[in-house]
Order: sequence, then C-alpha cells, then structure tokens
Amino acid sequence: MANTGSVRVRLAPSPTGTLHIGTARTAVFNWLFAKRHGGQFLLRIEDTDRERSKPEFTANILEGLQWLGLAWDGEPVVQSERIEAHRAAIVQLLASGHAYRCYASETELQEMRERQAAENKPPRYDNRHRDLSPEQQQAYVAEGRQATVRFRIDDGASIGWTDLVRGEMRWAGADLGGDMVIARRAPADQIGDPLYNLVVVVDDAAMAISHVIRGEDHIANTAKQILLYEALGLDLPVFAHTPLILNKEGKKLSKRDGVTSVGDFRAQGYSPAALANYMTLLGWSPPEGMGERFSLAEAAPLFDFDRVNKAGARFDWDKLNWLNSQVLHDLSPADLRAALQPLWAVEGWLDPMGDAAAAGPDQAWLESLCGLIGPSLVTLRDGIDQARPFFSRPELSEAAVSQLQSAGAREALQALFERLAEGPLTLEQAQALLTEAVAAAGVKKGVLMKTLRAALLGSLQGPDLLSTWLLLQPSGEAAARIRRSL
Ligand code: GLU
Repeated sequence: MANTGSVRVRLAPSPTGTLHIGTARTAVFNWLFAKRHGGQFLLRIEDTDRERSKPEFTANILEGLQWLGLAWDGEPVVQSERIEAHRAAIVQLLASGHAYRCYASETELQEMRERQAAENKPPRYDNRHRDLSPEQQQAYVAEGRQATVRFRIDDGASIGWTDLVRGEMRWAGADLGGDMVIARRAPADQIGDPLYNLVVVVDDAAMAISHVIRGEDHIANTAKQILLYEALGLDLPVFAHTPLILNKEGKKLSKRDGVTSVGDFRAQGYSPAALANYMTLLGWSPPEGMGERFSLAEAAPLFDFDRVNKAGARFDWDKLNWLNSQVLHDLSPADLRAALQPLWAVEGWLDPMGDAAAAGPDQAWLESLCGLIGPSLVTLRDGIDQARPFFSRPELSEAAVSQLQSAGAREALQALFERLAEGPLTLEQAQALLTEAVAAAGVKKGVLMKTLRAALLGSLQGPDLLSTWLLLQPSGEAAARIRRSL
C-alpha cells in the first residue's frame, strides 16, 4: 500500500505495562505533528508478546491517552489480529531468498556467544545457516530440529536515512548483529510467531504510515526495518527519533526514579493539561515569544522537528510543578471544586456522590473553600492537606498552644467569643467584631489575629484568616474551636 501523501502517524505501545511517561511523550509529539499537518494520529496495540501483554495494560494506556487529551483517529489496530499478514510477508521473504530457515539450536547459539565473549567480540549471529545445501537442510529436518526464520543482513550493507531530528543517519550492516530472526522457532514445516521488526514494518506499511516518530532507543531497529521495507518492496516512511527522557543524574528515566507512569503523575495530583504541556517541553523548544505555558492545541500549529533537540531531555520537577500550579491557579472555584471533590470524597469528607442535596457541605461553601486554598496549590493533592482543617477539627500545635497562652491572648479571644452570634457573617461584620474585641480587651489587633488563627486552625500558618473564619462560622465550628481554645 503506497503512502497517499497525507501525514499519517501512529503510536505503537506494547501493552506489557502501564502507560509510561516516555511513551506518552512520544504520543504527544506524534499528536502535535499530525495536527500541525492536518493528518491522522493512529494507534496500534503491539500485543504480539503474548505472555507479557495484558488487556488491563491496554485499558490503562487508552485511558491515559484520553486523560491527556491525546485523541486518536479511528479504531486502534490490534497487532495480534494481523498475524496472517505477518506470516504472508515471511513467506514472501523466504520465496525471494531474503530469508531462510536457521536450524541452529539454542545450545549451539549459546556456545557461539560464549566463544565470542571469550574472544572479547560483541555477540552476533555468525550466519552459519545462511547457505545450507538442500541435503544439509534435510538432514536437520530429519533430526527433528525446529527452525527460526532469519532475514539476511549483508555485512557490507550501508543503510542511510534522513532523520527529522538527527539529520543524515548511516548504519553499517556489519553492526546489526548478523542475520536477524523474524519468526520464532517452530517445527521446520511451519512458521513460528513473527517478531517485532518484521511486524512493525508490515503494519506500518498496511496502515500507510507516512512518518514513524519514536524514541531514539529504536534507531538500530530502524536500520533493520529499512532493509525489510526494501526486501518487501514497500515505500519507506520518514523517520524521526526523539530524545530520551533522563533523570536528574542524566540517566534514562526508569522505574527506580519513582514516578514513571502517567497514572503515577495523575495519582500525585498533576493535571493533564500541565503534564501534556510539560511533556511537550521535554525535547521541544517553543519558538521565541511563545513562553513555556501552552495547551497542546496552541503548540500544534508551531510544532516542527527543527526545534526538537538531539540531546536527552532531563526531567525537571520544578518546571512541572510550576506549570501544574499555574494550571490550578487558573481554574475557577467551580472547576477546582469538581477536581477536588473526588479526592475529598476518598477522605470521607463528603458523601461519595458529592451530591449537594445530601447532607454535607453545600456547593457554594465548597467553592469558597476552593477560592481560598486554590492560589497556594502546587498539585491537587495539596488540596487535601490544605482543606483538612475545614473538614475536621485539627489538633493544636505546640506553637498554637503557646500563642494561646501568651499575654492578652485569652482576654482577646474571650472578648471575641462573647460577641460571636450564631449563623453566617459578612466580612464587614467580622472586621467590626475584631475591632470591638480588641478595644474591649485592650490588646493589639495583631495579638487577637494570631490567637484566632491558633484557635481556628490549630496552627500559626494557613490561608487568609478572615476567609477561614467566615467559612467555619455558619456551621458553628468557629465558635466551637474558639470555645475549645478558651
Ligand atoms: N512497541 C514498540 C514500543 O513500545 C513500538 C516501537 C515503534 O514505535 O515502532 O517500543
């Protein structure tokens, strides 16, 4: 199938684990490139590793992409459903002489590798069964040996392509490890399970993929795949190899760095908008004047590979946190409430449905709380800690206790308590009450403010004091906490 000229890219995740940040970043670059060119962003689930592939990982990957706003076009292609096409390609390669059956046993190959190691040579298949005579083949078959199918890679081959990120690339056939296995071991009259490089080429061609955009860990595969395209008589796509994501130490980001799957970031309270924004910056430098904060839709018209770096991209938590706090600060109280309510429900602070009609805090109160804590959130999870004293009565910290025992504190708080009526207060009423209480107790206003904070929040830190008081007032909680402190 020839390319139609339009841009068609794909993400080809293997469902052998949850959606990894590296795969998600590859998805972002594919998505941006497709949008930039009015093309299609396709999905292919590479589930040919039957033992390690799991449906729950596929579900996790699809859900993660949706959460990030990376919608794909059409139905995902499921690689395992295309095995007949893969086998047909292998048959074609056997018929054209580009591939052959290799009867070498695992033990023989192991001995070969050990010898190479002893001679300090890199491991490679020595092409021993490349040119077996029909008699030799028959002898192996008669022994009952199984066979893999191998694709010939000439040592003298020179494979080149123009990479959209890395420019002119050249690879020597001799550096590709010898003739490559394209079908697993099987009885010699059958074709075993087709392997990665072959199936990717067959599927990318069938899907008419115009640009293969993937991590630079696939560069050697690309060299092998180009040989397969040529042997199968297929049109080559354009290749772009994106830089790896590195940790602080400059090593490839891995499970040992803690958070690596998109679900981990979500659980830690990162917003999809901030994470997508951050992943775009992992390797791509936005044009002058664009700033570093943007949506995927804003980045798409400007995205190109000229601005993608060759060097690995270091993961920068400070930048992600900054972006996330910006996104959270920009949410309206209603949107922040919608985002925080499920987390608060898990803490048991709301009825599980968050239903305003049921008993529990009403929507307007929740939104006022969001308005109060919103500006200081870095992640959504901070919205749990910061909201806690509004849903449950906090213990008094040592500092709070000593404030409550300081000179004039008790008198001032007592004066305020005596003037405190039931029911909600306006800001003006609260300010007037403070002024009266301060006058009656004969203390500085600061003394009462600090003491009131200690009484209400059990701490000397926290959000704006008057807003805190107004939120705790209607339920009688403000009065109850002041009484406790007295
Ligand atoms: N399944 C491969 C991976 O997850 C896909 C590589 C490719 O894009 O060709 O690494």
